[in-house]
Amino acid sequence: MNAREQSQYDHIVIGGGAMGSATAWQLAKRGRSVLLLEQFTKDHVSGSSHGGTRIFRLGHEQKTYTTLGIAALDLWRELEAESNETLVELIGHVDHGPAEVVADIESNLKAQGLACERMSPEQANQRWPGITFDANVVYSPDGGRAHAQRTVDTLWRRTVELGGEIWDNTKVESVEIDGDFAIIETADQTLQTKSVVVSAGAWLPRLIGHHVSLRGHHVSLRPLHAVRAQPSHFAPRPGFDDIDMWPTFIHRGLSAQPEVENSWYGLWTPGEGVKVGSHLVHDELDLDNRSFEINRKFESALQEYVAQWYPGLDADKVTSTTCIYTNEPNEHFILDRKGPLTVCSPCSGHGFKYVPAIGNITADLAMGGTQSVKEWQF
Ligand SMILES: Cc1cc2nc3c(=O)[nH]c(=O)nc-3n(C[C@H](O)[C@H](O)[C@H](O)COP(=O)(O)OP(=O)(O)OC[C@H]3O[C@@H](n4cnc5c(N)ncnc54)[C@H](O)[C@@H]3O)c2cc1C
Repeated sequence: MNAREQSQYDHIVIGGGAMGSATAWQLAKRGRSVLLLEQFTKDHVSGSSHGGTRIFRLGHEQKTYTTLGIAALDLWRELEAESNETLVELIGHVDHGPAEVVADIESNLKAQGLACERMSPEQANQRWPGITFDANVVYSPDGGRAHAQRTVDTLWRRTVELGGEIWDNTKVESVEIDGDFAIIETADQTLQTKSVVVSAGAWLPRLIGHHVSLRGHHVSLRPLHAVRAQPSHFAPRPGFDDIDMWPTFIHRGLSAQPEVENSWYGLWTPGEGVKVGSHLVHDELDLDNRSFEINRKFESALQEYVAQWYPGLDADKVTSTTCIYTNEPNEHFILDRKGPLTVCSPCSGHGFKYVPAIGNITADLAMGGTQSVKEWQF
């Protein structure tokens, strides 16, 4: 047996954010030996998976993501059952905005036999008086809140309980593919495995580049663009401070205010207030000199938007935070494998709701599967 064949782990997963942790959990669950490597600690705030909450929803303009959400919900329940944690709460989700988008969401929900309700902005405002609604509204009772950091903590715990290994504070310096093997260099170790999963979030292109040569095949990754997003939490006004008064919500296609154009999302984060963020307003990101400073121009634009659309929130009582968004040009995911290399991308700013399903898909790929969904191929 040569030295390479002695590789100690069936799989090495690089990146202990939500996606890498879910992949490690799934591999450990299947009895594979797995090592998860994270450059920081479990609860670091420099990536995309920290903080209290994320929106969970089944409604989506594209059928692929409604179907993925349904698969994810089953796996969320499985993870909750085996960990005894509450990770997703179905408190309901509302989309409002232009007729075409709302109609697509409604028809995808209906096509899957899922409940949904169209209502006028006035009816919606009667039900959720803290929000002013745009012209078209669709409500899905199967949407809600996913607990972000709690999910990462749970996945790390379950991975270890199932026999996986996790090394935190271990930065991977390089990944080389040599025939059937991946060679992984950290500051003080060289590791070899027949299956490496790179789920390094915004650092993914830096680790493997945009073009990878494998056994004479040239793999070009679709470009990923990492930016610094800045959501804020707002205090509810007196009379609006009941958590049940707030569904999760997405307000699409607002174009009257160029500074705050396009899609806005939000939800109540227990203990922090109502989070509101923009899908499109962000700063360029310098991964080497990551700034956590709050961009006051974005914050005050957000305050203006909140003052106009959320009578239940005090726009002056605001606490902002920063987070990394990494998008593929069409906001799809990259989940694919070539030889010993599996790539699990940061999932374009809307991946959290699918975390256990993405772990499942990525584990399948790492165990030799192929990607049949065209949008997710390299
Ligand atoms: C502000 C914001 C709001 C969002 N809202 C929602 C939402 O409401 N609903 C939803 O579904 N999704 C949402 N998302 C998207 C979701 O959070 C992301 O898709 C998801 O967290 C990405 O996880 P990840 O594991 O790919 O990336 P990350 O969490 O960034 O994890 C990557 C990990 O790899 C590690 N790493 C990188 N390089 C190395 C290396 N060389 N060696 C070792 N480790 C390394 C990093 O330290 C990091 O921990 C939101 C994202 C943001 C930023």
